Order: sequence, then C-alpha cells, then structure tokens
Amino acid sequence: MEKFYGLLLIVILVFALAKFLKKNIKSDWKKPNKPFPASWRKILFENVPFYNNLIFEEKNSFEFKIQEFLINIRITGVDTEVNEYDKVLVASSAIIPIFAFTNWKYYNLNEVLLYPGLFNDEFKTDGDKRNIAGMVGTGYMEGKMILSRQALHHGFKNESDKKNTAIHEFVHLIDKADGSIDGIPSLLLEKQYAIPWIDLIQKKIEEIYKDRSDINPYGATNKAEFFAVISEYFFERPKLLQQKHPDLYSLLETIFDQKMANKRKKGSLHEINRNDPCLCGSGKKYKKCCGY
Ligand SMILES: [Zn+2]
Ligand SMILES: [Zn+2]
Repeated sequence: MEKFYGLLLIVILVFALAKFLKKNIKSDWKKPNKPFPASWRKILFENVPFYNNLIFEEKNSFEFKIQEFLINIRITGVDTEVNEYDKVLVASSAIIPIFAFTNWKYYNLNEVLLYPGLFNDEFKTDGDKRNIAGMVGTGYMEGKMILSRQALHHGFKNESDKKNTAIHEFVHLIDKADGSIDGIPSLLLEKQYAIPWIDLIQKKIEEIYKDRSDINPYGATNKAEFFAVISEYFFERPKLLQQKHPDLYSLLETIFDQKMANKRKKGSLHEINRNDPCLCGSGKKYKKCCGY
C-alpha cells in the first residue's frame, strides 16, 4: 500500500512539473486547422486592396496569417457586437505591416477591444474629450489594443487619405516588440540604418512644424507617432510617398521588407459578381462554388 502511494506521489509530481514547464516555455500560437472561410475571403476581396494586389500564393499565405491571428487574439466588442467583417478587418490591419516577416507573431497582444466610436483617455464613449480612435494599452491595459470600429472601417473605405488607424496601432506594437515604443523598430532595422532613420524623422518633423509637409501633423508629436503615421501613408499611398519623400519611402521599404510602390494596382474595390471566377481559385463561377 505504501508503495502505491509513493508511486502516486511521483506521478503527481511529474505531471505538476510538466505543467510548470509548459507554462514557462513561451507557447507558440495555435495553428489553423480548418479551411479559410469563403465568407472571409469575400470580405477580403471586397474591402482590402492590399489583399487584391497579391498573387495567388501570397493570398493563401495572407489568409493563413489572418486565420492564425483570429484564433490566437480575442476581438471583443464593448457596447457593440463584433461581426465577421470587423474581425477580418482587424486581422488584415495586423497582417499587412508584418506580411513579409516569416514567423512574426504579436506576442505582446492578447485582445483587441472594439468600441463603436471615438473614446476618451478613460475609455469612455460618452462625455467630453472623445478624440481617440485607437490606442495600445499600457499598465493594467497591457496586452490590449483599443480601436474605434468607425475608424477601423474608415481606414479601409477611404483608399486615398493616407489614414488607417488600425494599421497605425499595429505599427506601435511592432515598434514595441523590442521593449519600447520609440519609433525605432530595432528588431527590424539593422544598426547602420538606425541613425539615418532618426535624422530623417527629425528633419521631416521640422517640415511639419514649418507647415511644409503633406504628412499628417499628428506625426510631429514624437518619433513613435511619426513612425506610425508614416506607415499608414506607406501602406495606403506608397506611390505618392515614393514621389514626395523618396528617402522615407526607401527606408520604410527596408523596415517592412515590402516593395509597396511596385505592387500592381488593380483599380478600386468592387463587389464580387455571381458570374465572376470564384475567389478560391477553383476555376468555377463564383455562384457555382463558394458563392452558391
Ligand atoms: Zn499613435
Ligand atoms: Zn470557390
């Protein structure tokens, strides 16, 4: 009998140890094990220009990353219901800036809170001083991002205003991955580029102050905001950025490892027609395949 209890104790200890180790090893993200939902593909096709400008294999990889993001990050509505459209747009904003990085994961994020509209710095959606459309949480809000759904939608509806709040907030998280939100993504930017990058930011901020810039003046707040603001510009109007600020454009190309200005631009977004070839690449008509 004593032997039995001894054995039992050992078994319990082994289990406890295994559990302890598992907790302390940074667990990787869960992988998707279901096909990408056809309804999500339709949302991408109709709303996300970045996706439409990818070639077929890249689209598959984008979809995989979207699905992986949504399995691992909670999207919670505050005073509002979150639907598929919201989820796919949040995930797209997360994936666009890191699309070229193999194995990049948002380990510093676990939840995105979606507010119906603008909020104030106490996360209230009513009352005074509601001018915040998105923010990355710190302190007790660590690991959380807050986004206004209105701003999220606007970022994808307007393709020309150089603004996308959700991409802006995800760029802050990328910046933060090296420990500090300072406008210098050290994990991505090799040392020899860091100084030119800081000098350039300084110069461009001065141009904003002198009212000689087409960059969103909010970028003049500090280096971190400049980096986030100029990334919105880079992903939304890459050709214009290359034309107006070639030096900035080329450093951003290095940071994000994406030749945004070279991407084919397939016109504006439109809804899928029932007779169009199906988005899944089956070769069948949409109405006879995923759109039945
Ligand atoms: Zn910001
Ligand atoms: Zn199909």
